[in-house]
Amino acid sequence: MIKIPNKLIPFGNYKYITIWPCLFYKEPLVPIVINHENIHGRQYIEFLSIGLILLLIKILIFGSGLINTWLILALALSAFYWVDLIDCAFNKTDRGALERECYENENNLNYLKTRKLFQMWRK
Ligand SMILES: [Zn+2]
Repeated sequence: MIKIPNKLIPFGNYKYITIWPCLFYKEPLVPIVINHENIHGRQYIEFLSIGLILLLIKILIFGSGLINTWLILALALSAFYWVDLIDCAFNKTDRGALERECYENENNLNYLKTRKLFQMWRK
């Protein structure tokens, strides 16, 4: 993860945000925060892998138009956010599955060593 200290991103009162492969932060990083954001990083990679599979299918069926290619990758990365928002809305909770996984496991600094694929949706 590329760590980028700055005073602007994330906006508002947020202190840290992962926009893979970068971690933007306004306050000092501590191991638990780094672990939390690394879990988000792993989630991003999983979403991106879904996007790449969809992209491959699209190229195999329809060919490789550049705009559609970038659109699919952008949708895969932005899906990271709207999937969590939809999860919050359906379950009437403050945190979606992605954020819940991070908060439940951020104290376990070895979590990523044993984490399974798409663990956020497993129980
Ligand atoms: Zn988080």
